[in-house]
Amino acid sequence: MSNLHTEIFEKSKKMVPGGVHSPVRSFKGMESTPKFFKSANGAYFTDIEGKDYIDFCMSFGPLVLGHQNPAVKEKLTQALGRGWSYGACEPYSVDLAEYLLSRLPHVDQIRFVNSGTEAVMTALRLARGVTKKNKIIKFNGCYHGHVDAMLIKAGSGLAGAAESSSLGVPKGVADDTLILELEDLDGVKKCFEDHKDEIAAIIVEPLPANNGLLIQDQEFLQGLRDITKANDALLIFDEVISGFRVAFGGMAELTGITPDIVTYGKVIGGGLPVGALAAKTEIMEHLAPVGGVYQAGTLSANPLAMVGGLETLKQMTKENYEKLEQNTLRIVNIFKKWLAEYNDGQFSNYNIIHHSSLFWIVPGDKIKSVGNIPGNIGEDFVPLFELLLEKGIYLSPNAYEVGFGSLAHDEDVAKDLEKRLWS
Ligand SMILES: *Cc1c(COP(=O)(O)O)cnc(C)c1O
Repeated sequence: MSNLHTEIFEKSKKMVPGGVHSPVRSFKGMESTPKFFKSANGAYFTDIEGKDYIDFCMSFGPLVLGHQNPAVKEKLTQALGRGWSYGACEPYSVDLAEYLLSRLPHVDQIRFVNSGTEAVMTALRLARGVTKKNKIIKFNGCYHGHVDAMLIKAGSGLAGAAESSSLGVPKGVADDTLILELEDLDGVKKCFEDHKDEIAAIIVEPLPANNGLLIQDQEFLQGLRDITKANDALLIFDEVISGFRVAFGGMAELTGITPDIVTYGKVIGGGLPVGALAAKTEIMEHLAPVGGVYQAGTLSANPLAMVGGLETLKQMTKENYEKLEQNTLRIVNIFKKWLAEYNDGQFSNYNIIHHSSLFWIVPGDKIKSVGNIPGNIGEDFVPLFELLLEKGIYLSPNAYEVGFGSLAHDEDVAKDLEKRLWS
């Protein structure tokens, strides 16, 4: 264990709960303490001791181009020269909105906020405001940010019954969230029968990627679309992780299924704090100042963040999506080979579940719902994580987090990965 990291972590812990500003950074359950990074470039970042790592966390997804993309950097530098917050109207969010809406046929209007959590919070309020109903269906294994109504886990009683998964969430809030299992359409149908005219919306990650990578069948997602339509409820696709990553139009584009409201985050800001919700005009005009659903933000549509998002997304052409997938596939294949071979098969029980530029290293196969995830993966992950860290290969410090490829993870990086793995 290195002194510099431990020293700064101890210092941080005195001032900040757990020493971190987001729990998953804390290396909880791992053997080592968190690394502190001082700089990053392309597919690499460098810690405060000067050691470099191939980064497969990519800020948990936003950095689809890699760190410090030169074109984005140039535009951000120009933007800095114009000032970094006005709290008044500016043209940069208009440019980003225009760019996005002309390429997202399933939505007419968008509103920018500062995070994925904020986007989800507003989407839920909007769904309730539009439908005049209160209950929301959420699936076990999907993460939707730290909104009260989404920090809910399955209760022990009846199917659909829920309790909060965090202290501080009122029971009244938990009572309005219904928890169901992914892949279980009958459960969804039954829930709508049991709660007739009470359900405002279903929220789902169309590509659940926050509790492992639980790839859903088209029929399940289509089923959610059909059931919500038949019951005057809205379908919310939370595309904070999948949006602009699996395709420009996210899972809505890949599946051809049109949700009523979409939430975005992560890639939409290219590493700057941006979230958004988007929908058809009939729904969006319920938001203030046009409609009665209130929402606001001092730093919303921050001019720097708008420019960072636009310059990132401008590079996401069809060719670059293909390249992104090829880059990730190359890396996945290298990891697979190494996992099978290393130390006479120490990790040969591992497999990689993979979709476009996301991958999940897991001891298991065909995992599509929480019930299929082996129970001990958290502990099993520790030696693998620590070994890779030692080799200068950085995965998110949690067995349930996915890895991300980027356009910077090119052939040279793949060669370097091979070298590091077999060193
Ligand atoms: C990351 C994420 C969120 C939360 O976004 P933050 O920017 O961390 O608040 C919500 N939903 C999904 C699907 C996410 O992946």
